[in-house]
Amino acid sequence: MNRSVAFEVKGWCPGALRPMQSGDGLIVRVRPQSASLRPQDLGALADAAREFGNGHIDLTRRANLQIRGVREASLPDLHDVIARLGLLDANAEGEAVRNVMINPLAGIDPTEACDVRPIAGELARWLTSDRSLWALPSKFGFIIDGGGALSLAAQRADVRLVAIGAQIAIGIETRAGIEWLGSTAPGAAAAVATEIGLLFIKAASRDKRHRMRDLSDEGLAAIRGAMRLRLDALREHPRELDASSDRIGLIELGHDKFAVGIAAPFGRIESDQLRKFTDVMASLGIDEIRLSPWRALYAGVSSGHAARGILAAAAREGLITDPRDQLLQIEACTGAPGCQSTTLDTRGDGRRLAALLPQSGFAGTVHVSGCAKGCAKTGAADLVLVGSDGHYGVVRHGTAQDRPAGRYCFAELAADPGKMFEFESQRHD
Ligand code: SF4
Repeated sequence: MNRSVAFEVKGWCPGALRPMQSGDGLIVRVRPQSASLRPQDLGALADAAREFGNGHIDLTRRANLQIRGVREASLPDLHDVIARLGLLDANAEGEAVRNVMINPLAGIDPTEACDVRPIAGELARWLTSDRSLWALPSKFGFIIDGGGALSLAAQRADVRLVAIGAQIAIGIETRAGIEWLGSTAPGAAAAVATEIGLLFIKAASRDKRHRMRDLSDEGLAAIRGAMRLRLDALREHPRELDASSDRIGLIELGHDKFAVGIAAPFGRIESDQLRKFTDVMASLGIDEIRLSPWRALYAGVSSGHAARGILAAAAREGLITDPRDQLLQIEACTGAPGCQSTTLDTRGDGRRLAALLPQSGFAGTVHVSGCAKGCAKTGAADLVLVGSDGHYGVVRHGTAQDRPAGRYCFAELAADPGKMFEFESQRHD
């Protein structure tokens, strides 16, 4: 196949206008504004994934959606669909830096301190219209969290905006963790975030760095100094609690408000599955579906009864609606045949591994990776199976880049699960 050079560049994130070549064709990433889609629009994307791609859709850890297996000849038609839905940016440069993640229950959750959607919308407009911000690295990201039942505390971003009372706390991610710089009024928060972006560009060009956490002490000091003049003092730091167990299924928000959280195994959803699910959502009067960094879909629902109806329909489509589902413990990359970097069926092995978990009593996190690149999870997991030459290396409490303790084919691990799990019982002895 005659591939364009643009499709082969590594180390950047794909977009709709600048797709990435993978083993199964082009990956086209759609970035909805404020991670929100109407059910009929999500259904239209599901249809487009079937018509112009291979029908596989990934929910990404940056709260976006990827259509896989797109043929180069089909790309213009797919762009037409995305543009008709109002989801296509004006240019690839602006699209690449529009990395704004917000709380998936923003504006739905009565317990949040602030509906952050206007801040996210304004920041996105700055990022796509101000050419000086297009020098931001494509992995540079912003998180905007209004608080509430679901927390983005465990998600990483270079710049963090968190509602606290009537103010927005402003933080940056350094090597030592989040450094809170001060606070500002919600109406000024997007402008402050863009100013930090511009300060980062200046410091990073000197330091030759791509993430806030890699800046030199001088670079961080320049940002700190400029923001000291710009921000109010923070009386208390945001208390961001990561309640990971409460995200899936029925979410009771209080004040007679409900939401549902529905996950896709390993973030993969098929076009037919998604089309049926969006039809059910539309028929039940749901007008908005939100994406999230947990590879789960969210919606506000008017009653517990309606929420249970949605969850039952989602479960019938093979989606995860039970917060105790073992598949939620496991992250697995695309693997073979979708990715050419491995011969291992990582997601098939992930499902087989999930079936072994109840008997093993292992309650930790698992990462099944086809190679040391570790696409599915950058942070550590309690157990990592990392592939090379058709075998899995076993890493305990580490990442796919760590040195494995042993190497086995999956059949050996399945026949003797202690090779994976027994270290946990030793730790607790
Ligand atoms: S971790 Fe390796 S095998 Fe898995 S999707 Fe990434 S590059 Fe492919």
